[in-house]
Amino acid sequence: MKNRGFTTNIIHSDRLGKPEHGSLHKPIHTSIAYGYEKAEDLAAVFQGTAKGYAYARQANPTVSALEQKITSMEQGVASVCFSTGMAALAAALTALLRKGDHVVSSAFLFGNTNSLLNTLAGIGIDVTFVDATDVHRVEEAVTPATRMVMVETIANPATQVADMARIGALCQAKGIVYVVDNTLTSPYLFLPKGVKASLSVNSLSKYFGGHGNALGGSVTDTGLFDWSAFPNILDIYKVPGSDPALYAMLQLRKKGLRDFGGTLAPETAHTLSVGSETLALRMDRACGNAARVALFLSTHPKVKVVNYPGLNSHAQNSLAKELFKRPGALLSFVLAEGIDPFAFINRLKLAICSSNLGDNRTLIIPVAQTIFFEMGAARRASMGIEDGMIRLSVGIEDTEDLLEDFAQALG
Ligand SMILES: *Cc1c(COP(=O)(O)O)cnc(C)c1O
Repeated sequence: MKNRGFTTNIIHSDRLGKPEHGSLHKPIHTSIAYGYEKAEDLAAVFQGTAKGYAYARQANPTVSALEQKITSMEQGVASVCFSTGMAALAAALTALLRKGDHVVSSAFLFGNTNSLLNTLAGIGIDVTFVDATDVHRVEEAVTPATRMVMVETIANPATQVADMARIGALCQAKGIVYVVDNTLTSPYLFLPKGVKASLSVNSLSKYFGGHGNALGGSVTDTGLFDWSAFPNILDIYKVPGSDPALYAMLQLRKKGLRDFGGTLAPETAHTLSVGSETLALRMDRACGNAARVALFLSTHPKVKVVNYPGLNSHAQNSLAKELFKRPGALLSFVLAEGIDPFAFINRLKLAICSSNLGDNRTLIIPVAQTIFFEMGAARRASMGIEDGMIRLSVGIEDTEDLLEDFAQALG
């Protein structure tokens, strides 16, 4: 199926796994435990020498079907799903890093990921935040203790685009694990494997599921990193005869998923899986709308600045063109002097004031006072977040209706 199209692969993947009764969707398996006729067979599952399910905190057939779908979309070797995107990130960082390790992270990060990295810094993992739009800033920050570099594809809310291919080459040359959070682009717009990422992380709650009705997260191993040379893989997970490309995902499933317990429920895995069938259709439509809205706002006299990677004025416009199929559906903007952003948001009739993104519905939020409030003014300034910044996650409504709503709210 590798050379069929993106959507063809997604909508036929469950069926080709031959679920019972010729079911076209993978059934929702609700049992949390699995019985074996022979104790030897259960022991083999525990020891990793046979495939099978034991207890659903660690693996469930419905969740496995979703994991396989994500692995195929990301063109990776294996994936592990979690209850949320944050559970996926927290598990990946804690399962693969040790006290004394150093992480170089993009300074332009999802607020809760920034908070998570600060928690890790408090328990002995050093973190340096750098401007990842410039590979030299990343290179300068690397020390002999650096085990991981972390970036987001398009940063929320100011939409900076990390210099991902050059960072990938740097990580490869230095044997550093390279983690790319692909949430804002999704595997439809961008494949982290193409820039030599070791791991691709997705919050499935956003574009992947797409309907704002289910939380989930995933980590996919692209197969490019040589885990046999990575000092943090425990001997017990180097199962004799198994492929070293799978060591990290096994350790993540055990140390990250099993021990922390951020398990994705099978009902939710089904909801996310159904949502993902239309990922390409929704993204094409939302990106098309975002481009139109960004252009409208950027030429409006009452708007001071618009951040959208698809605009010529964006600092990484050409980089975004090289990297992504389309420049995403998230943008941010600042209104002209003297226009109250709260009053403007309150005048909108279609766009909903809400903290989520990647929904079918267009969502809008003033960022400094809400999602980026906790980090404080100094850190916000370092991320390019002005007090008046408004973030817009453009949905799949009819374009003219959106343009009309923004036009009337700007008055
Ligand atoms: C939302 C988001 C997350 C966290 O995902 P949840 O599913 O909400 O936990 C991580 N990274 C990025 C870039 C996000 O937008």
